[in-house]
Amino acid sequence: MQHEDLMIFDPTAVKGNWQKVFGNDFPIHLEIGMGKGKFLLEQAMRNPNVNFIGIEKYESVIVVSLDKMAPYKPTNLKVIAMDATNIMEVFSEGEVAKIYLNFSDPWPKKGHTKRRLTSPKFLEIYRTILTNEGEIELKTDNKRFFEYSVLSLFENNWRFCDFSVDLHDGRTDIVTTEYEEKFKAKGMPIYYLKVQKKG
Ligand code: SAM
Repeated sequence: MQHEDLMIFDPTAVKGNWQKVFGNDFPIHLEIGMGKGKFLLEQAMRNPNVNFIGIEKYESVIVVSLDKMAPYKPTNLKVIAMDATNIMEVFSEGEVAKIYLNFSDPWPKKGHTKRRLTSPKFLEIYRTILTNEGEIELKTDNKRFFEYSVLSLFENNWRFCDFSVDLHDGRTDIVTTEYEEKFKAKGMPIYYLKVQKKG
């Protein structure tokens, strides 16, 4: 499989038609800020009845991910080089079943609050592109970003389904990300939550 087979070069052209891209009507799961793609590739290999899409803003990082993915020839995995800010141009209402936010940049400065991927503006976008019972799963090492995200999701009317302040304590079946492996090796706790869209 070539890198080109994994990339979607003009994602706005397939808005509303992602099922045609994959040639089936399996649910679509999206990772925003996929980095080098370990999590997404493992999820795709484990779940052939789910279509996975990774968004990443840096092309240099994407190249590394494609090197990793291509030998496995995943047919249920596509990658887009883009900034999540423009996500509404790429997905129609209700087109995505799940969004993963794994170790998102915390943007700790107050002046950068709007850039956080769990700021109200982004949550509104997620609400639009998610299916009726669509979910967001979030993992982070950053306690302050986690606290901010919990509050933001709560204030914006999302239903909390699962929650942990030490995800790896007692659980062994977790598909990890590159960052998660680093923090795990240092014995740092991983914060986790799962929320569902409310009507
Ligand atoms: N998810 C991976 C992991 O857990 O190993 C990577 C985490 S890394 C800290 C955050 C990644 O998100 C970076 O690769 C960064 O370029 C990407 N990113 C941050 N903000 C983004 C945005 N607005 N749109 C797309 N990608 C973004």
